[in-house]
Amino acid sequence: MELKEIKGVGIQLERKLNQLGIFSVADLLEYYPYRYEFNYIIDIKDIKENESAMIKASIVGDVKVQYIKRNFNRLTFSAISSNELINVVIFNRAFLKPNLTMRKEIVLVGKYNKLKHTFTASDIKFNILNNSVEPVYHLVEGIKNNNLKKIIATALEYNNVFDKIPSSYLEKYQFINKKEGINFIHLPKNKDEIKKAIVRLKYEELFEFMFKINYLKKINNKAVGIKRELNENIKELFIKDLPFTLTSDQLKSIDNIYLDLISDYRMNRLILGDVGSGKTIVATFAIYANYLSGYQSALMAPTEILALQHYNSIKKILEKFNINVSVLTGSMKKKEKEKVLGDLKNGNINLIIGTHALISEEVEFQNLGLVITDEQHRFGVNQRNTLRDKGKYPDVLYLSATPIPRTYALTIYGDLDISIIKTKPKGRKDIITKIEKEKDIKDLLYKMLGELKCNHQIYVVSSAIEQNEEMHFKSVLELKEKFDMAFQNKVNIAILHGKLKQAEKDKIMDNFKNGVTKILISTTVIEVGVDIPNATMMVIFNAERFGLATLHQLRGRVGRNDLQGYCYLISDKDSERLKVLEESNDGFYISEKDFQMRGQGDLFGSKQSGDMVFKIANLKEDYQILLQAQKDSLEFIESNNYLDNDYYKKIVENISFIN
Ligand code: ADP
Ligand code: MG
Repeated sequence: MELKEIKGVGIQLERKLNQLGIFSVADLLEYYPYRYEFNYIIDIKDIKENESAMIKASIVGDVKVQYIKRNFNRLTFSAISSNELINVVIFNRAFLKPNLTMRKEIVLVGKYNKLKHTFTASDIKFNILNNSVEPVYHLVEGIKNNNLKKIIATALEYNNVFDKIPSSYLEKYQFINKKEGINFIHLPKNKDEIKKAIVRLKYEELFEFMFKINYLKKINNKAVGIKRELNENIKELFIKDLPFTLTSDQLKSIDNIYLDLISDYRMNRLILGDVGSGKTIVATFAIYANYLSGYQSALMAPTEILALQHYNSIKKILEKFNINVSVLTGSMKKKEKEKVLGDLKNGNINLIIGTHALISEEVEFQNLGLVITDEQHRFGVNQRNTLRDKGKYPDVLYLSATPIPRTYALTIYGDLDISIIKTKPKGRKDIITKIEKEKDIKDLLYKMLGELKCNHQIYVVSSAIEQNEEMHFKSVLELKEKFDMAFQNKVNIAILHGKLKQAEKDKIMDNFKNGVTKILISTTVIEVGVDIPNATMMVIFNAERFGLATLHQLRGRVGRNDLQGYCYLISDKDSERLKVLEESNDGFYISEKDFQMRGQGDLFGSKQSGDMVFKIANLKEDYQILLQAQKDSLEFIESNNYLDNDYYKKIVENISFIN
């Protein structure tokens, strides 16, 4: 049914509704209030100090309006409530004056000061029903809450929504049905009705969501993969010559991968680990095992800097096994590229490491058996799948440093198997982190000098390349000038940013890696993955401009061996957020905090979160419901009951189609 068919909805109003994302009657019915107002009128004698309440009153004096500033006015009048004479004050309601006539009965919402007999109202209502509940909706300009309420009330007459909760679970939890749920959520008589409606609507959303994820996992798990014959001792062979001892979580992850590879199912695994936890070496084991079983591997990284770094470090480890490693990036010369493309196709290359360049059409493999995506949240689902589809049932490994709590990981990455690396390599110290004001930069310079004297290196990060008049951000270029002056041109300082040519970038990174450059001033191009153990200090200007996750990633560039690392967050703004970083070095904790402060949208602010928009559920608040929905939907799938349900049967057909 169309919106226009509802009584009272014309073209104008329809457009407004569209702005709210409402395009059909079904949308309208699922446009839920975000809060409720409860109209419980009490006697003024029962009002508690400082508590907001509702009282009845009758106006007894003239209404005075004072215009204090533009957009700021104050209304005062006298009224009687339960035989008490009170002064009423309300701000910014000058427009109500014509309605506030002598002896008019009104309802005041607000707080009462008994000593002064003054009622400071936050709202004045007319004609309300005592003991009623008022839904409050998010609105756009040109549409009032009351309008929307009326339209929805009319639409409720056509409410024959479809129940997506399978009947067995409706019964099991004695949920009210969908139709009742929709009625209650828009027109509740009391709190109890609201509660009943909310819980069943949330459950329904989460059930459907978890059904999809569980189903995806089921077909992924069943997906035929390459079954490899690999002796268990390959783990030992790989580990024994490494320059360090692996952590227990790294070993566990390697075990997980080994088991995936020898099974006849396709590996579909996420390695989730904080910055610096050592994911690369785990991925390198997968490459080694894949090579031994006779297949090619591809590793995709989000930036050229990172791709080259992986190339250099992984090559070093794999060379002794005679594994032929090569690199492919967008900025390579045509001739070089063609050589690589040829060698990939004829199987001369065992491992190719590269950027997005790997997914281009001209890239062909002889027998791609393993696809690894580093910093996987930087890529879209399609990009990852394009690379995967260049092989025949290749195993798939994702690496991610977005350290979301395991519980959430289980839901948003529910279609993947997950290995978590929590233990840090031995000897790692927490990075000492401090927030500093820009005026205290002198102190900072001394500290920098201290590190330089120990022959350590320093990163400086700014969000801008050039000076920007309007915004007072310290730019990369400006900072270079300042530091050159401060250190009297005696320290080798380089700048790095995204606008430089690749060859220049490579040279700058090389110089920093070799220790020729002592200070590297850069934009966030160094955010992901860069690994230079001798760098011990990270200074971030205008730190308030970055998200906590980004700052944590940036900070992760130092403290990459047993040297003490320092991170200075330069910010003139007081920020609760930044303090979280002073407090903790634990990415999982930080993301949890970030989550609390900014909500689910930003935590999952990566590309795959697109389909996770809920109308009423909230992954964090509704975690218990989510767990139940997770369990139930799994049971629903495993019992094959979904085959008798038209709605879920259709979902399954669609999933199978896109996968
Ligand atoms: P990330 O998980 O952030 O990708 P990397 O894989 O780049 O981390 O590892 C960070 C650094 O730690 C690298 O220099 C790597 O060689 C080193 N490293 C990895 N595992 C260990 C370990 N178990 N002990 C000591 N150093 C390690
Ligand atoms: Mg990494």
